[in-house]
Amino acid sequence: MQKPNVFLIILDTLREDHGHLVWSDLEEFGFRRYEDAISTSSWTTPAHASMFTGHYPSVHGAHATDERKVDEVRLRRRDLLSTYLAGSGYENHLLSANPYISRLFGFRDFHHYYEIMYNPSFKLLRPAEWEEISSLKEECGGSMVKVLKALLKRGRYSLVIRSGMDKVGLSRACDLLYQKFYVKQVYNWPFEKGSKRILRSFRKTMRTYRKERPLFVTMNFMEVHEPYFAEKVMEYNLNLDPSRLRKVITPRVTDRLLEAYRKEIVYTSAKVRELFQLLRESGQFDRSLVIIVSDHGQLFGRKGRIGHGVFLDDECIRVPLFIKYPLGDRTVIEKERSGRYISITKLRGFIQEGIQRGRFDETTLFDDTVFAESFGINIRVDPGNDVERRRKEELDKYRIAVYHKGHKGIFSVPEWKFDSIESPPDLELTRGMEDELKAQIVRFLKTSRAEKHGISTLAKKMKPHP
Ligand SMILES: [Zn+2]
Repeated sequence: MQKPNVFLIILDTLREDHGHLVWSDLEEFGFRRYEDAISTSSWTTPAHASMFTGHYPSVHGAHATDERKVDEVRLRRRDLLSTYLAGSGYENHLLSANPYISRLFGFRDFHHYYEIMYNPSFKLLRPAEWEEISSLKEECGGSMVKVLKALLKRGRYSLVIRSGMDKVGLSRACDLLYQKFYVKQVYNWPFEKGSKRILRSFRKTMRTYRKERPLFVTMNFMEVHEPYFAEKVMEYNLNLDPSRLRKVITPRVTDRLLEAYRKEIVYTSAKVRELFQLLRESGQFDRSLVIIVSDHGQLFGRKGRIGHGVFLDDECIRVPLFIKYPLGDRTVIEKERSGRYISITKLRGFIQEGIQRGRFDETTLFDDTVFAESFGINIRVDPGNDVERRRKEELDKYRIAVYHKGHKGIFSVPEWKFDSIESPPDLELTRGMEDELKAQIVRFLKTSRAEKHGISTLAKKMKPHP
């Protein structure tokens, strides 16, 4: 039997409580909707890495630390979902508007890459040219004059002119002009952040697709991610000073942001429909497993918090999950869904086992207990005063969120205590339950430590859930 195509579609930054805006467009395509799906992190790279490795961030390692922030975080594991599928005869395509989901950041083993920037920028020099200049500079003992001479000798006249222009600061000026006029006029940025180009590129792929090999396609759509306006509204540093945040992000601004956020979701949803139309026209829709999921959510000022990247609030880590099974798949259906959770770490095994066995098993997605991790602020921030410095220290702690039997706790590991425990109105939080939540945290820490060090038997013994 022919293997199914696999489409992993990530609607970056889509919160679970806004998933209905997409669901209304998906029902007719035969999707199943899963509630209580939990991401492993509140930002892009660790969450995607969990989907590709099947592990939590502390195990796969692609997360921020004190020294390493977003731009330096790389997925270094070599046993990815894409690796497995390439080895199983799949033709792999990565189409991403998110620069952190790219070859450079470790998302490897695709046969074709279409990588674009959701945040357009004009660069006089390409990354490879930067590398060439910096290695020449090293060879020439740091002398720029010698570098230019060496480049002229190699006949790289255009590079000499462009690096000269960059040196006198023209890159920044070109970038501003590019964003201000060209991008806004031509691409309708920031409303459109690349999905049109992704679909155009995929349309081309389908024109030449020979159908000999099944497809594995990962797409990351960035429309729902900030910025929502050309002017900067969601400044990350506001998280360091809640009183300043309250002044800037007034209820009126929050409403405006949420309205823009919803419009982006509706737009992206239409693009996803366009993709399905394209798959139907090419006869590939029915034979495809299609997973639509998000990597994290977004905060718009509630509790003095904005954006994503550090907080483990539900708005940040509860994500929508919709799955369409290949036509004729004898999917094993989970009957006991209530009160259980799906960690996005489970997607990897679910896809892999489904392909191996020739049928997908929904029951493998569910767990009684799931987790998410935060390793502190994921970007470099510069506290401007003592208030901000103290707040930064407070945020820069290793925290674990645990979801268990309807309760949710956020645990600060260095302080060895829960910051908060939320329980549904009909469930009482007893002392016994608090102890149970703590026991789950301990088991998680032991398991992740064991898995990280490759002690699989210990990991099995300590596994917090079946
Ligand atoms: Zn993201």
